[in-house]
Amino acid sequence: MNISRDILLWCSANPWMKENIPKMGFVRGAVKKFMPGENVEDAIKAAKDFKEVGIRTVFTYLGENIKDLNEAETVADHYKQTLEKIHVNELPTEISLKLTHIGFNYSNDKTFELFKSISIKAKEYNNFVWIDMEQSPYFHRTVEFYRRIRSETENVGICLQSYLYRTKEDLQKLLDISPNIRLVKGAYKEPAAIAFPEKTDVDNNYFEISKMLLIAIKEKGIRAAFATHDLNIISRIEAYAKMQGIPREKLEFQMLYGIKPTEQLILVKEGYKVIVLISYGTYWYPWYVRRLAERPANVGFVLKNLFTN
Ligand SMILES: Cc1cc2nc3c(=O)[nH]c(=O)nc-3n(C[C@H](O)[C@H](O)[C@H](O)COP(=O)(O)OP(=O)(O)OC[C@H]3O[C@@H](n4cnc5c(N)ncnc54)[C@H](O)[C@@H]3O)c2cc1C
Repeated sequence: MNISRDILLWCSANPWMKENIPKMGFVRGAVKKFMPGENVEDAIKAAKDFKEVGIRTVFTYLGENIKDLNEAETVADHYKQTLEKIHVNELPTEISLKLTHIGFNYSNDKTFELFKSISIKAKEYNNFVWIDMEQSPYFHRTVEFYRRIRSETENVGICLQSYLYRTKEDLQKLLDISPNIRLVKGAYKEPAAIAFPEKTDVDNNYFEISKMLLIAIKEKGIRAAFATHDLNIISRIEAYAKMQGIPREKLEFQMLYGIKPTEQLILVKEGYKVIVLISYGTYWYPWYVRRLAERPANVGFVLKNLFTN
């Protein structure tokens, strides 16, 4: 892994920086590249534009590691209201959340109760809820949580990360419950004892797991989303799917708002399902710095804002 990625991931978790950097105007300017605004209305406006061109969306209200369970209730209420707004606006938009944002650090049962209330609301509107995958200490608990909620409802999916050695094995076990999977490479700083230190290994593992998912799409009809901006991997997935006789409309690619917008349009025109994840909220600092870590050249863009604003 490269040093600049490590430094940026360290910055993403630094308490002083979390408190102070978001107040700096030039950083706020740069963040606009990755999110349309801080309010849900900004996300809704962007989702309407995407809908016009055939791109679906998923909303994430930014936040993680809240201070108590009252805050968890507020976040859960926010998501339920958002589902209602999505419904009223007739948007092809799902939601995606972090379990630590609805109390996972305090109570499994309360988090389950809150998540369930969100998924019931989603079902009422024929919608869907994704569970983000956070740092490795949450991995096992998140997968167990997913098994439990999946046994009660179908409209929930979980994110898996290809940088972890264990993911292939976990996916194999999850396939028994007909899961909905979003595959990513992984955004956090993880030790070499549990995660591939080299990017090429993360990429190779991504493709190996993608093949497992493509077979599961074909044989079990599961929902799998390939969440990546890696055009090389996307081409390999397309080729493997073609070889397996999987039609394009069964392939789902997910990307982040502001990254590879031209390719998003090309994929949708080619007949693939494309979903763009739109984040919003005031708590954007750690999330934003993880985006910088994915492509340290983005730091240049932040600095450019310093001189142009
Ligand atoms: C829909 C979605 C949901 C996600 N959910 C999670 C989650 O729950 N847990 C988790 O750990 N991670 C999540 N991620 C982040 C993911 O783990 C990666 O960190 C991120 O997607 C970058 O990896 P990549 O697959 O695009 O490949 P990379 O090899 O990192 O990037 C491929 C190419 O894409 C472009 N690119 C990638 N990132 C950026 C960027 N930030 N800015 C500009 N260009 C960029 C560059 O051209 C780069 O060469 C999610 C990603 C997506 C798209």
